[in-house]
Amino acid sequence: MKKIFGNIINPINKHKTEIIKDGCLIINNKGIIEKKGKKVNFEEIKCEIFDFNDNFLIPGFIDIHTHIPQYPLIGKGKGELLDWLRKYIFPAEIKFNSADYAEKVFEYFCHNSLRFGTTTSVAFSSIHRSALKRIIEKNHKLRLFAGNSLMDLGEGELVKPMQHNLSVMNDLFQKSLNNAHFNYTVSPRYAASCSIDLMKNAAEFAKENNLYIQTHLSENKSEIEHILNIHRDYTNYTDIYHKTGLLTDKTILAHCIHLSEKELEIIHNTGAVIAHCPSSNSYLKSGIMPLKKYIQNEMKVGLGTDVAAGYTLDMKTEMRNAIESSKTLSYFTNEDHAVSALEVFPMSNILAAEYLGIADITGNLNEGKYADITVIQNRNSSEITEDILSEIIYGEDKNNLATFYKGERVY
Ligand SMILES: [Zn+2]
Repeated sequence: MKKIFGNIINPINKHKTEIIKDGCLIINNKGIIEKKGKKVNFEEIKCEIFDFNDNFLIPGFIDIHTHIPQYPLIGKGKGELLDWLRKYIFPAEIKFNSADYAEKVFEYFCHNSLRFGTTTSVAFSSIHRSALKRIIEKNHKLRLFAGNSLMDLGEGELVKPMQHNLSVMNDLFQKSLNNAHFNYTVSPRYAASCSIDLMKNAAEFAKENNLYIQTHLSENKSEIEHILNIHRDYTNYTDIYHKTGLLTDKTILAHCIHLSEKELEIIHNTGAVIAHCPSSNSYLKSGIMPLKKYIQNEMKVGLGTDVAAGYTLDMKTEMRNAIESSKTLSYFTNEDHAVSALEVFPMSNILAAEYLGIADITGNLNEGKYADITVIQNRNSSEITEDILSEIIYGEDKNNLATFYKGERVY
């Protein structure tokens, strides 16, 4: 049993945030929040104390789209998506054929995710069986949704026959069963790297085993053209995933920048989730996703760091860039696309948890959930104003002081 003291900032849903000044969370031996309230109400309980004084206790962040093997590539390479992948990313991912190297990169990835307060991450690994197998075995500090990239189309060392892709997928899924920190996720890389048959088989596998699916959609205009040249029987990019069965309410689609109304309607109807990655979209000059419009259309949108096109695992940077890019879009279109901190903050925790089907165990600091907690520094005052979420997102001094995953201090 332990007590954690601090000012509790607890997002209840997309409209409401509970604030408890001088709060206390009582964590039981299973790492679950047993009680939440004012510190003065729990003085009689004697146990280990983590006193964070005036600092803020918020839920651990949930990053719904990133890439483990690309982490060492941050800031390297330039150009737009297709060139960047070919020249920099694919050669770097080949190095994951060494499980030892993969383990080293994952340790660094995991350490920094926790340093920035992320406790759940949805990530692509490379195509390699041994690399992800090692990650599954070694990971104890981060809730991971991950899968090996599926690639059977195109050229290069990462492209393997369909049967090989399916066999690696099945092996790693079997390996992940009964692992408390890992959720195997079916991961067709994107339609340019996957045959129609591979996508159909992947979709079938996900359905049979009730798994999440992650892929990329409509990131860059040249990419869209390239893909429609490869898969000529399909009217648009979304149609490819829809007709192969990949669009479900457990599918995460990274980017979704250049979509037609028809495509948006299909995504909305299937209940698939959009991973908005504004840092990456800016780095690769891919475009600006109209976040405000998607919120108004009641699309499910979460946030992803998309390392290494995204240049940090810090979800606060991602929230900031989601807001700032929405203002830039307003400026260039003369329409109001600006979103607020109130809209963006729950995308990094409770909304993402709902999309991932884990809102019963994480996503906010309610009693009965795992103590996945990020402690944010508060230097300036004893006042908590109505701008608190904006302050957390923008404040220069709002560093992460500590991270708890399932009640254990991991940073
Ligand atoms: Zn990505």
